[in-house]
This record gives sequence, structure tokens and C-alpha cells, in this order.
Amino acid sequence: MSERTLLERLEADPPTLSRSDIIQLLASTDAQEIESLFCAADRVRRRGVGDQVHLRAIIEFSNHCVRRCAYCGINRGRRDLVRYRMAPEEIVATARRAARAGFRTVVLQSGDDFHYSRETVADIIRAVKSAGVAVTLSLGERPFQDYRLWRQAGADRYLLKFETADAALYARLHPGQTLAQRLRCLEELASLGYQTGSGNIVGLPGQALQSLADDLLLMRSLGVEMAAIGPFVPHPSTPLSGEVPGETGLVLRVLALARLLMPRVHLPATTALGTVAGDGRARALRAGANVLMLDVTPAPYREHYEIYPGKGRDGAGVEQAWQQAGRWLAGQGRPVAQDAGDGHLAATRAGMARA
Ligand code: SAM
Repeated sequence: MSERTLLERLEADPPTLSRSDIIQLLASTDAQEIESLFCAADRVRRRGVGDQVHLRAIIEFSNHCVRRCAYCGINRGRRDLVRYRMAPEEIVATARRAARAGFRTVVLQSGDDFHYSRETVADIIRAVKSAGVAVTLSLGERPFQDYRLWRQAGADRYLLKFETADAALYARLHPGQTLAQRLRCLEELASLGYQTGSGNIVGLPGQALQSLADDLLLMRSLGVEMAAIGPFVPHPSTPLSGEVPGETGLVLRVLALARLLMPRVHLPATTALGTVAGDGRARALRAGANVLMLDVTPAPYREHYEIYPGKGRDGAGVEQAWQQAGRWLAGQGRPVAQDAGDGHLAATRAGMARA
């Protein structure tokens, strides 16, 4: 029997792709091949997670950070940034408002800020959970005891991107940190029963296509419930200011490949993609994405969570963010999901418990 071509392998159900297929598709400039990739991702997305799009309300409650990530506009070395911390009551009030507006998941994100103690964060989680929403944390690397207490307090999910699977590149971009430690944190989180999210940045200076393929294979082997894939956006006040942004077409190909490799994973159409290309989010929804993260951080804080330039300029309030997204999605032919959208492993576990 003759071996199937790459296009035929893309058409298969489910598509089976080797590492070299992935690299070939990442490098592709063949319009027909790229179109086939996006069509396959759209088909697999529909079958794996349906047409519904999950809206997540993200509250970026502190831009203080102890890390020195070379790409990030809130890294600790940045002097020309107004720093802020929201009070726990403000965080909880914003989360409750998001729940009233219709959001089923609240994402609490910050720089790696140890000002918020283990107990303070646990209190915030308990108060937010009482509003009946799922809670995703994205607070960076913390001790195991912190992760454990927060899980006991009711946190459902944790988002911690590994950023790149290339350990040498990781070390260059994250002074004082290692990829191994990042992955240890992800392991600890999974062992505590969190639904984990992780992912990469596409277009980092010095990142090879081979290493993007390894990023995708790492996401799959970690068994993440959410894969966050976004472009590198250079910030003028960081060591990477003169570098070029991640290319939209490449980000979309990574996203589509993620969908083919992980049919049931949650894949956000990221805000960063919307920043590098006006139609980036709409294109992402047609290339496998099924989640939108909406920034509901209140003024005057929002504009200062400036991980890349141009972020946080949209002044929509919580209720408007929900309504605008619903209208925009209707225009894309995609309904808003009404449930919290627990990940595929959680769904599998629930199915096993019922059986
Ligand atoms: N401190 C937490 C952590 O490290 O996971 C969460 C906050 S961190 C700012 C959230 C994400 O922002 C990072 O995982 C990184 O992928 C992304 N990020 C930061 N600066 C970026 C940039 N200039 N371009 C693209 N993504 C960026």
C-alpha cells in the first residue's frame, strides 16, 4: 500500500501527524496545504468541543512581579511602570460582578507577587467560589503548600505557561528560572487535581520551528486541559524591544496543529493575537479555537497590566464585555457556552464516576 500524503493524513479522522509532519506544516508557504490544515482543525474542533465558545473573565489584580522574563512588560526590572495591587475586597467584588454578568469562569491573574500570602489568596478563592463560578488561578510559580491550600479552598484550574520547550532558550529568557522547575510546578498542580492549562509564546527571538513542534508535543504529553498559544509581542521597555513580533500566520498554524493533536483541549483565541492582527481572534476561531478571555480588570488598573504595548486600552466594563463578546460571536456564527466548560480530563473523570 502506498504511503499517504500529508494532505491525505490531514483529511484522516483523526489526523495522525508525526513530528516531521508538524515541522513541515509550520514551515509551509503552500496556500492549499495551509487551508487544508485550518479546515481540518475546524472540523476536529467541531467534533471535539462543539461550536460553543467559552467566555472567561480575567481579573489582572496585581502587576508587581519578582521575575525578570525578558519579553514581559511587567518584569521586575521595569522602572517606568505604575505598579498597582487590587485589595482582596475589590478582587472579590469584580469577580461577583462578572458572575452576575453571565461569566461561568473567573481567571485570577497577577505577576509573581508574594505580597498576597497563601491565606489571603485562599480567602479570595473562597469568596469568589461562593458566587458559583469556576476559578482559574494564574499566579506563577509558588510553593506546593500554596497550590495545595488554594485547591482545598476551591480553585478549579491553574494556568502556567511553559513558554518554550527549549530549555536553553527558556534559561536565556528567564534569568534565575529553569524549564525543569516550571514543569515541576505543572506536575504538582496536576497531582493536586487542578485542571491545568499551559502553553507557549510563538515567535520568540531564537526560537526554531523544531522547538515549536516540541512545544506542541509537550502540551500533548502534559495532558493539559487548556493550551494557551499566543504571539510574542515586543515591548519597548524590555531587553527584547528591537525584536520582531510573532507572525500571525505562524501562530494560527501552531493553534491549528494544537487542535489536531488535542481534539478536546480548550484553545483560547488570545488577546495578544488580536493585538498583532485586527482579525486575529476571528481567524483563530476558524482554526481550532473555542475560548475567549475577556479582560474585566477595572479602571484605573487595567492599562497598567502592560505585558505588551497596547494591552488594556479597551475600556469596556464587565457587563459590556460580556454583551459585546456575545454579539461579536453571533456575527461569527458561534454561540456562547452557558456552562463553565470543565476540561476534557474532568469530563472524562465525571464520565468514569457515572459509569
Ligand atoms: N505570573 C504569572 C505567570 O508567570 O504565569 C501570570 C502572569 S504572566 C504576565 C502571563 C503570560 O503573559 C505569560 O505566561 C506570558 O506567556 C505572557 N506574556 C508576557 N509578556 C508577553 C509578551 N511581551 N508577548 C507575549 N506574551 C507575553
